[in-house]
Formats: sequence, C-alpha cells, structure tokens
Amino acid sequence: MEDVVIIGGGPAGLACAWHLAEGGLSPLVLEAAPFPRDKVCGDALSGKVVSVLQRLGGEALIRQMAAESFVLRASALVFVNDRGDRVRLSLPGEVMGFTAPRYAWDAWLWSQAPRNIRLRPKTPVLRIERAERHWVIHLPQGERLYARYLIGADGVASKVRPWVYTYRRARRPPVYSAIRVYAAYSVMPGELELHYVPPYLPGYWWAFAMAGGQVNIGIGGPPQIARSVSFRQGIRHLLGEKAPKAIAGHGIPLYRAGAPLTAPGCALIGDAGHLVDPFTGEGIGNALLSGYRLAQAILRAQPADLFTWDARDTYEKPLHHELKTEMRVSTWLHRLSRSPLMVRWLLRRLSQRPDLQKTLQDMLFQPEKRLELYSPKFYWQLLGF
Ligand SMILES: Cc1cc2nc3c(=O)[nH]c(=O)nc-3n(C[C@H](O)[C@H](O)[C@H](O)COP(=O)(O)OP(=O)(O)OC[C@H]3O[C@@H](n4cnc5c(N)ncnc54)[C@H](O)[C@@H]3O)c2cc1C
Repeated sequence: MEDVVIIGGGPAGLACAWHLAEGGLSPLVLEAAPFPRDKVCGDALSGKVVSVLQRLGGEALIRQMAAESFVLRASALVFVNDRGDRVRLSLPGEVMGFTAPRYAWDAWLWSQAPRNIRLRPKTPVLRIERAERHWVIHLPQGERLYARYLIGADGVASKVRPWVYTYRRARRPPVYSAIRVYAAYSVMPGELELHYVPPYLPGYWWAFAMAGGQVNIGIGGPPQIARSVSFRQGIRHLLGEKAPKAIAGHGIPLYRAGAPLTAPGCALIGDAGHLVDPFTGEGIGNALLSGYRLAQAILRAQPADLFTWDARDTYEKPLHHELKTEMRVSTWLHRLSRSPLMVRWLLRRLSQRPDLQKTLQDMLFQPEKRLELYSPKFYWQLLGF
C-alpha cells in the first residue's frame, strides 16, 4: 500500500514529489509518457517559475538552467494589435524569464530532482476507484496499485478531477483550445510577441523566440472561436509555405476563483486543478506552485489517516488566497480583451505613451503593484488626464 501516489510527471507532479522527497517521503509518480516527453506549450517560463524553482533547488538550479543550451533568457514582452501598434515592455534586470522547449526542459528538471522520488514512466493510469479504506489504481495489463492519498497532476484530462468535482458538486470552468508549431519566423532574440487580434480575441496568437533561432508560434482562444475559425488555417496563413504539416493541439484549463481542488483522500494540482492564468495562458508557474504548496500542507499536517484527510483548509483555500490579486487582474484583463475596439485603443494609446508603458511594466513584473492595473486611475491617465 502506497501512502501518496502522484498521477502525472509534468511540472505540477514534479514540484510536489520534489518537496515531499525533501520532507523525507518517497512518493510514487505514475507518468503515462516515456521521458523525455513533449507537452504542447508556448514554452515561456515566467518569473513565478523561477521563484518556485529557487525554493526547490536554490540559486544553483537557476544558474544551471540558464546555462543549458536549449534555454534562452527572455528580454521583453511585446503586445501587438491588429493595426500594428506595438507596446514593448522590457523585463527588468532583476526579473528572470526564459523560453525552453518543454521536451528538453521537463526532462532536465527531472534529472535534477531528488533521487528518493520513484518515477514510473510509460505507466498510464486507466481508471481509479475508491474502495472502503484506500484508492485502487488500475494500470495496463491488469496491474493494480493501492494508495491512501491520490494527487491528480495529470493535466487537462485528469482522472482525479471528476472525483473532486462530483464530491464538491462543482461545474467545470472553461477550457480554451490551443495549437503550437516550431518554425522559422522573424522575432527579435529574447522577445515574446503576443498578438491580440480578431478573430481570436479574447485569445491571441504568439511568436516566442527560442534558443537556436527557432520560434514557438501558436494560437489559443475560446472553444466557440476555435469552432468557427480554424486555428490550423490561421497558422498556415501566418507561415505560408513554412508551415509544418503536423500541428499539435492541447486544451488550456482556465483558472476560476474558488474552483475545488480537494476532496477526502485526494487533491488536484496544476492543469488538473484549472490553474492557468486566463489572460496570459501561463500555467507552468501555478503548476509548480500548487505542487509545492500541496506538499507543504501534507508535510505540515502529517495526517493520521490520509484516506479521509481533506486538504481544503490547508491547501485549497490558502492557494486561492495567494493567487487572488493576480488572478483577479488577469480575469478582468481577459474580459476587457473580448472587445476588439478596446484592445485596439488601449495598445495604440500605450504605444504613444512611454511613461505609461513604464507604469504597465512595473505593474506586470512586480506582483505587489498588479492591483494598480485594476484601478481607474491608470485608465484615467491613459485617457490623457
Ligand atoms: C498551446 C499552449 C501554450 C501554452 N503556453 C504556455 C507558456 O508559454 N507558459 C506557461 O507558463 N504555460 C503555458 N501553457 C500552459 C502549460 O503548458 C501548462 O499549464 C503546464 O504544462 C501544466 O503543468 P501540469 O504539470 O499541471 O500538466 P502537464 O504539463 O500537462 O503534465 C501532466 C502530465 O500527466 C501525464 N498524464 C496525463 N494523464 C495521465 C494518466 N492517466 N496516467 C499517467 N500520467 C498521465 C501527462 O503525460 C503529462 O506528462 C500553455 C498551454 C498550451 C496548451
């Protein structure tokens, strides 16, 4: 009988297992894919990713990551509207952001993790079942495992989420559609371009510079838009002859305040828990953070009976509280970006006002200043008063 089984070896599962291992446990991680494995992603690693990795592996881990040949330091975020207005926000020296292909980055991160984690790749969980005193985990070839506590780190199509949502009688928040390719495209080294243009709004298309001159290009947006305009055609239109034939797609489970993350004997972390920023589509930072926070809660509580323990007060509520300001602003910006006129006007105005670009830069890159983005004062200034 296992105490803790983590389903999914992405950033969420890895961070959780890493911190549990530091606390003296030896968690079992079941991962469907062989390593290295790809994850369809924009490959942008934000300051939040860096800060959780610093907690896990210290400055040495960040230095080592920055020196890897597949990693590129990001220098600026560039917002573009359909009229070609560009707002370029440089990343301040103290804020570190990177791009790295998930295929290489996830495997590298695993190579740095503590040795007492038991990672079983090529082990897809087919089904889970709640017995009287433990979970039954069904694997291929009739194999079964038994666990007291189950952690769903298994991404957008989580097998654990239905248990949590049924127990809590919750409806699922939206899942956006997204596609991604690697191609030759003209982007300044280190720049991350985000194009907020119809018909994708409140989604966007992006072009992120990667190491070695490659560019990660993709489109993400609400499913109703993905049904009416083909994102794949959009990529072919952007890249013409250079568009690759095979274009990979994946869902983006958006954050919703208060969405359930726990039930007795189980919890959700990362994409399984719908923790992706609705405005930027960033989810790696929250995947790492939620994994880390759940591990902290388990280590602190040391519950006598993990199977009946519910981490709602020790993990779910504090995590939602921690993300509150950031996600409130993102949810609001996401709503704002539904209007093409508003996006056009906002980016035009900002492109003409370097002083307000500096204010926006501070707000975006300094979490404690984020709430100002929500304040009417900023828009008052934009209007020129
Ligand atoms: C197109 C696109 C672009 C994005 N761009 C960015 C970006 O630039 N920056 C950013 O921060 N975020 C981005 N995101 C979001 C980011 O990719 C996710 O938030 C992040 O990968 C979540 O990590 P995770 O560990 O929760 O899940 P995942 O990374 O999805 O890992 C889940 C793991 O679980 C495994 N698994 C699934 N089912 C089972 C099963 N039944 N049994 C065993 N294992 C299983 C999978 O194989 C996988 O390895 C993007 C997402 C998409 C779709």
